Amino acid sequence: MIDARDLRKRFGHHEVLRGVSLSVARGEVVAVIGPSGSGKSTFLRCLNHLETIDGGQITIEGEVLASTDAQGHCRYPAEAQVRRICAKTGMVFQHFNLFPHLTVLENLIEAPLVVQGVARDVAVARAEKLLDKVGLSAKRDNYPARLSGGQKQRVAIARALCMEPDIMLFDEPTSALDPELTGEVLRTMRELAQEHMTMLVVTHEMGFAREVAHRVAFMDGGELIEQAPAAEFFAQPRHARTRAFLQSML
Ligand code: ADP
Ligand code: MG
Repeated sequence: MIDARDLRKRFGHHEVLRGVSLSVARGEVVAVIGPSGSGKSTFLRCLNHLETIDGGQITIEGEVLASTDAQGHCRYPAEAQVRRICAKTGMVFQHFNLFPHLTVLENLIEAPLVVQGVARDVAVARAEKLLDKVGLSAKRDNYPARLSGGQKQRVAIARALCMEPDIMLFDEPTSALDPELTGEVLRTMRELAQEHMTMLVVTHEMGFAREVAHRVAFMDGGELIEQAPAAEFFAQPRHARTRAFLQSML
């Protein structure tokens, strides 16, 4: 579903991704962990074309989003094609990024209406089903400011799902939440995984990575240091930097 090969990204002279390769199979949940500043968000943002890459190749469901020629020039397909490929992925951010001036329901139907051109009644039906799924039907007509952080993040997940993506990207979805609110968000994500959604999750929640992810990847200093099936990753981390990071998370 996702195949990233040798991704490179610079901000000025700072090389933030130094040849990152990772693939995610259909129905697979992959957790990406690593210290702050290691390039995890940038990696996700490249997959969703919120950032352009400086080298490497990104393939989403067999379609090339970005590639690099022999001269080292990166190429993207025409804009319509890029948009179509990116529509296969939905993204959830650390800080929710809900539209504050729209109600919960309006947040969900905005993109289906505007981007997909779905009929309003179809979008509303879709949204109501998803709000029910994340347990927030009662908040349908509230504005985001009236919700708790955990509720906001569940709305953000429902909003991403409302575009019917095949892949969900999560960038530290619980990091901005009070500890007592992380459970409800993780539960929603766990349910999504149980429904075989393909998920790439940047997280500091080691319990979630261990129990829900099929595979765990560790990033440090713009490099993907190691990846392994979750049980193996935690039982026998191979790299000293991984071991040091896992120690620091205890
Ligand atoms: P992580 O998500 O692992 O904390 P990021 O991908 O956010 O790491 O950042 C990796 C590095 O890239 C950091 O040093 C950060 O300061 C830098 N960086 C991220 N985004 C930008 C940007 N838009 N401009 C300049 N530097 C950036
Ligand atoms: Mg980040």
